[in-house]
Amino acid sequence: MPNMRADKNPMPMQDPEERIHNFGEVTLGYSEEAAIDEAQRCLHCKNAPCMAGCPVNVPIPDFIERVKAGDADGALAVIRAQNALPAVCGRVCPQETQCESRCVRGIKGESVAIGRLERWAADHATGKAAATAPTEKNGKRAAIVGSGPASLTCAGELASAGWDVTVYEALHTPGGVLMYGIPEFRLPKDLVRSEIDKVRAMGVKIETNTVVGRTVDVEELLRDADAVFLGSGAGLPNFQGIPGESLCGVYSANEFLTRINLMKAYTFPRYDTPIRVDGRAVIIGGGNVAMDAARCARRMGAEVTIVYRRSMQEMPARREEIEHAMEEGVEFRLLTNPTEILGDENGFVKAIRCIRMELGEPDERGRRRPVPVPGSEEDIPAGTVIVAIGNSPNPLLRKTTADLPTDARGRVIADENGRTGMKNVYAGGDAVTGAATVILAMGAGKRAAKAIIEDHP
Ligand code: FAD
Ligand code: SF4
Ligand code: SF4
Repeated sequence: MPNMRADKNPMPMQDPEERIHNFGEVTLGYSEEAAIDEAQRCLHCKNAPCMAGCPVNVPIPDFIERVKAGDADGALAVIRAQNALPAVCGRVCPQETQCESRCVRGIKGESVAIGRLERWAADHATGKAAATAPTEKNGKRAAIVGSGPASLTCAGELASAGWDVTVYEALHTPGGVLMYGIPEFRLPKDLVRSEIDKVRAMGVKIETNTVVGRTVDVEELLRDADAVFLGSGAGLPNFQGIPGESLCGVYSANEFLTRINLMKAYTFPRYDTPIRVDGRAVIIGGGNVAMDAARCARRMGAEVTIVYRRSMQEMPARREEIEHAMEEGVEFRLLTNPTEILGDENGFVKAIRCIRMELGEPDERGRRRPVPVPGSEEDIPAGTVIVAIGNSPNPLLRKTTADLPTDARGRVIADENGRTGMKNVYAGGDAVTGAATVILAMGAGKRAAKAIIEDHP
């Protein structure tokens, strides 16, 4: 008989007072007992509606069945057949809008904690489920640009079909946003490295410090490869264009997070990465990136204020991230929009000028448009300002690949299977959709791999 309790097993967590002083993981993962108990809440529905909410089609009831028996290796083997990065997805997938949003247990209570069970399987397996290289190569070669989740998935799928795959990554470390963006306390980097090692174990070669469009271009890659996949992400930060954005102490969230995560500024002086977090840090934006920047700044010792121009209801960040930020003492100034960043006589930030907003008519996406309230300006003292209002694809590939179709926002145009219309060139992930999610990028990488295999019999 399934366990009909309405609530999920709670996730054990570091205490907020303790965790704001370290970069260790906030959520600690289920014990075996909790995982088995949670797995018993699954009804093993024949039509498995939860699977329709997973962009990579993880066989959810099958893996949960194995968790129920305490068999982490068996569960992981089932997951891995569809998902190359289970320890990552179990942590950062927005499950509440994906698989868990379709779970029938969510109708009268909370859905089964699918993501937490996926994480448990990945964390507790002994490694027997690791993928290995196929013994037979098929003579086909693929070049993959970027090494984020879209590219790693595409690479893994092609390698397991016998392709010779080389990934070209601009940075010195592979992993994309998983390594440089999402903080250690949400996604430990050892774990990402270990997932990438499994992709390497499938025979995928990764060449770092290679900027496609500079070190080598797409046309050159096409001379050696049967197919090229562009998984270059959306790493170019947007700015508001207000006065003061070039003052010292103003960062894009990407730069701030890269310094902290990839360049390990939080371990200073062990890693000699300079970063300025002085007094109060003001974060502009209301998405997940803003929450990550705020929570990093908090751990670096700052008082932190998030400034967001709409209300809490419109805030795009995950509820869980907002709650965690609040528990950690981050202040939220809603319906507030910056108009200018003010500097001192030495060119350093000293305050941010904001105006109050009220919500007007809905915009084209149905969200009520924020309208400034005249005469309501105020200055918030700040030593650091972090701009987290979204990212766009970097224009380099577009500028150096004459035939690559792109839209007005710089995104590569590709169909749902990643075909770009440029012969033998495929694309997927944030480079095509603009900033989205890990699992959508992985789904795109997987579909593109399938199209590449179909087009190159
Ligand atoms: P990316 O992960 O961006 O990887 C692209 C890679 O391509 C990068 O390594 C880049 O250096 C490389 N590259 C770019 N141009 C070139 C070039 N010319 N030559 C060679 N290499 C190149 N999603 C979630 O699902 N859950 C979360 O909790 C979450 N949190 C996030 C937090 C932050 C701070 C950020 C920034 C994003 C977050 N996201 C989250 C979004 C998610 O990380 C992205 O949607 C996802 O990583 C996109 O994957 P991708 O493979 O398309 O690109
Ligand atoms: Fe859910 Fe993500 Fe796992 Fe798919 S990969 S089952 S969406 S947690
Ligand atoms: Fe289990 Fe929920 Fe999926 Fe049904 S919908 S199989 S209860 S996880």
